[in-house]
Amino acid sequence: MMKPDVIVIGAGLSGLACALALRDRGLEPLILEAADGVGGRVRTDRHQGFLLDRGFQVLQTWYPEAQRWLDYQQLDLRPFCPGAQVRIGGRLHRVSDVWRHPARLPEMLVSPIGTLGDKLRLLKLRLDCLSGSLEELYGRPESLALARLRDRGFSPRIIERFFKPFFSGVFFEPELAVSSRTFEFIFRAFALGDTALPARGMGEIPAQLAARLPREGIRTGCRVERLGDGEVQLVSGERLSARALVIATEGLEAARLLGREDVSGRMAGRGTTCVYYAAERAPVQGPYLLLNGEGQGRISSLLCPSTLSDHYAPPGRALVTVNCQGVLDDPERLETDLRRELTAWFGDPVQGWERLAMYRLPQALPVQAPPVPYPGGVEQRLAERLWVCGEYASAPSIQWALNSGRRAGEGVAAALLGRVSGATAMGG
Ligand SMILES: Cc1cc2nc3c(=O)[nH]c(=O)nc-3n(C[C@H](O)[C@H](O)[C@H](O)COP(=O)(O)OP(=O)(O)OC[C@H]3O[C@@H](n4cnc5c(N)ncnc54)[C@H](O)[C@@H]3O)c2cc1C
Repeated sequence: MMKPDVIVIGAGLSGLACALALRDRGLEPLILEAADGVGGRVRTDRHQGFLLDRGFQVLQTWYPEAQRWLDYQQLDLRPFCPGAQVRIGGRLHRVSDVWRHPARLPEMLVSPIGTLGDKLRLLKLRLDCLSGSLEELYGRPESLALARLRDRGFSPRIIERFFKPFFSGVFFEPELAVSSRTFEFIFRAFALGDTALPARGMGEIPAQLAARLPREGIRTGCRVERLGDGEVQLVSGERLSARALVIATEGLEAARLLGREDVSGRMAGRGTTCVYYAAERAPVQGPYLLLNGEGQGRISSLLCPSTLSDHYAPPGRALVTVNCQGVLDDPERLETDLRRELTAWFGDPVQGWERLAMYRLPQALPVQAPPVPYPGGVEQRLAERLWVCGEYASAPSIQWALNSGRRAGEGVAAALLGRVSGATAMGG
């Protein structure tokens, strides 16, 4: 490629969306990616015929920005059943979204996840989370999600048995110490769309975006070491320049490149561990997420992606995903504890399960405690020729990564194209 117009640092979803927005406006971006492939936090590994997403994650089909960028049909999305199954007192109890499955109302009313009042409060919470624009939602008075749920009158029972098990797996924050705005945004996403996996793994999402860019527009294995004015220096020593730079890395790395300290500690992040097992038979029937509502144990949630899509496991085998809060120093101890718990859940067949991989992700997501401003409105231009997108300037999630990337691309294009036409006018 000749000298690019814009260098985008990072080929996660934000960097890819940024590059696409630039190309849509006639500019030539070059993405420099440190890793050996695109996707950042959304990647899928192939291992012995299994598809292993790098940590359990899902696409919420309602995300407006995902609808804008992704071809859902081509992704061949496989939805989960709305709600979950929660293990309480050694038994599984289904929690359903009765708005979408009215026939499950009687079952919900008698479920032990909470009181009758809790179930009515759930409907009110749903209405509140769905009202108003996203900008209005992020403009509401803010507190910690846990405090907000208590203020709304939810009982300790439903908080411990449903809200904490379900949403701690979303925020990697066991005590729901996240902004009430972030909580309401995610609640809206679960209520208004499907929660789904692409049939061939989450990595298909970035792959689909990258396929719309020219091959020479993405260089992998290129770590940017430092920034100059319109210039980057790679770890290899190579220097590259462009009319503008966009940082689309993880928050901590963006802070390093900018020479800024992460004083708030927000970027240091929350961790999770995802363990994959191969089983002869799926221990869960149907497209369900299983939650641990027992209030103890290492298992946070569990699912069988191969019950959603055959591609996740070779013929005759099943893939089991077990998610745990945080990252333990001693992986072998975790394995011992998990085997014991899994055996209590599913009996002796667990002894035959083969551990395929353990993904330890100490900085999976940044801290999402208040204050959380509207992610779609944060200023992204840091200097004359420097922009930032991704979680440093926005919020974590597929929605906000894509949104911030697009907005950065649009901002750069407006600045560069404005300048070009100005220069032409002066020259003329
Ligand atoms: C386990 C897990 C589960 C999640 N679950 C969900 C979910 O269910 N739903 C949801 O919406 N979101 C989820 N998320 C969050 C979502 O995946 C992220 O917010 C989003 O993918 C971030 O995209 P990004 O482009 O901002 O950053 P990243 O994906 O972090 O991409 C940054 C890229 O920059 C590259 N890079 C870093 N430094 C340099 C450098 N110096 N030079 C060149 N390249 C560099 C990195 O290699 C990386 O590819 C989850 C995240 C994790 C980790």
